Amino acid sequence: MTASRVLVLNSGSSSVKYQLLDMRDSSRLAVGLVERIGEATSRLVHSPLTGGGAQRRERSGPIADHDAALKAVAEELTQDGLGLDSPELAAIGHRVVHGGLRFTEPTVIDEDVLAEVERLVPVAPLHNPANITGIRTAQALRPDLPQVAVFDTAFHTTMPEAAARYAIDVETADAHRIRRYGFHGTSHAYVSRRTAALLGKDPSEVNVIVLHLGNGASASAVAGGRCVDTSMGLTPLEGLVMGTRSGDIDPAVTFHLKRVAGMSVDDIDQLLNKRSGLLGLCGDNDMREIRRRIDEGDERARLAFDIYIHRLRKYIGAYYAVLGRVDAIAFTAGVGENAAPVREAAVAGLEELGLVLDPERNAVRSDEPRIISANSGRVVVAVVPTDEEMEIAQQTFSLVKSLSGPGNA
Ligand code: AMP
Repeated sequence: MTASRVLVLNSGSSSVKYQLLDMRDSSRLAVGLVERIGEATSRLVHSPLTGGGAQRRERSGPIADHDAALKAVAEELTQDGLGLDSPELAAIGHRVVHGGLRFTEPTVIDEDVLAEVERLVPVAPLHNPANITGIRTAQALRPDLPQVAVFDTAFHTTMPEAAARYAIDVETADAHRIRRYGFHGTSHAYVSRRTAALLGKDPSEVNVIVLHLGNGASASAVAGGRCVDTSMGLTPLEGLVMGTRSGDIDPAVTFHLKRVAGMSVDDIDQLLNKRSGLLGLCGDNDMREIRRRIDEGDERARLAFDIYIHRLRKYIGAYYAVLGRVDAIAFTAGVGENAAPVREAAVAGLEELGLVLDPERNAVRSDEPRIISANSGRVVVAVVPTDEEMEIAQQTFSLVKSLSGPGNA
C-alpha cells in the first residue's frame, strides 16, 4: 500500500475537529476545527502545517450541517494541495465515544458496525449520534475509502467484572446495559504506553496510574498494558471532579433533588454535567483562572481546588491498592500537562507510597514526556502529553495496512 495519509475526524454535536497526518513519518499536514455548526456564527479555523510559513486561515458564517462542514474542510485541504480525493489518502479514522462491550479494537465501519453504534445511543445520547453523523458524511464524501472507528471505551474493555459491574440487581443492569465502560480510552492507552517507553520498558512489564486531567477528567489503573480499572462509568459523569461535572456523588442526591427541590431528571442531568465540578464550586472551570484567584486569596477558589485535589488523591490511593505495585504515575491533558501546583498537591506527603516529586523538574514546561519525581522516589512520576489524534491515526493506519497486506488481498 502506497497511500500513507490518514484523516482523523472527531465529530461532536455542533463541531468537527480534524487532523490530516502522514503516517510515513507521523507528521501532521493540517489541523483544524469547525465549530457552532448549524448556527449563524459557525467558524472554521484551518492550519496547514506543510510548506513552511503557511498561514492559519479562518472562515466565519453559517455552516448548516456536518455535510457542509466536511465539504468546507475538504475545500481548505484542496487549497493546500491535500485534497481528500488524493490517492495518498489511505483511510479516515473516526473517534467514536461509545463502543459498548463489542468493540474492543479499532474496527472498519460497515452498516452492521453503524447499527451497533446506533444501538448504544441510549448510553451515549450526546456523543454517538454526532459520531454517526460524522461517519455518514465522510462515507458520502469518499465511499471507496476505508472508514475506521476508534472507540473511547475500547481500552477499558479489559476491566475485570469486579471493577466493571455496579452492585445493583444483575437482571436490571444487564437488561439496560448498565455497567462501567470508562472513556478517554485512546488517551489512557497512548499515555500508558508512552510512560512505559519513558521508563525504557515494554508496557507488559509496568503498572501505571494514568491521570487524564482535562476539562473532562479520568484516572485509570493499567497493569502490564491492560486497563484494570477506570474512574468514569456508564457515562463520563463518574469519578474525578471535572471542569463542569461533579464526578462521584451519592446517587441519592439525585432522588433528593427531584423529591425535595422539585427538579426534573433533565434539570439534574444539566446540573451534574454542566454546572457542577470546579465551575459549580467556584464559578470558574479553567484551572489557570482558579490558580490566579487562589494567589489573590480567594477562598471559594481555594476550596474548589482542595476538593479537586482530595478526590484525585483518593483515586491515586485506590488504584495503588487495585494494582498492588505501582511503577509510574503519569499526568496528562490540559491540567495534568500544565498545572504544576495540581501535580504537587496530588502527591504531596505520599513519600511512604514511594512518591517524591522534584520541585525543579515539576516546574519545567515542555511538550515532551518527562520525569518529575526525585531520584529517591521508588515510583516514577511523569508528565506525558497525550495525543489522541495520533493514536487514532496510528490505529487506523495499522488496521488498513493489515487488511491490504499479503494474504488479505
Ligand atoms: P483539555 O480538556 O485537555 O483541553 O484541558 C483543558 C483545561 O486545561 C482547561 O480548562 C484549563 O483548565 C487547563 N489548562 C490549560 N492550560 C493550563 C495551564 N497553563 N495551567 C493550568 N491549567 C491549564
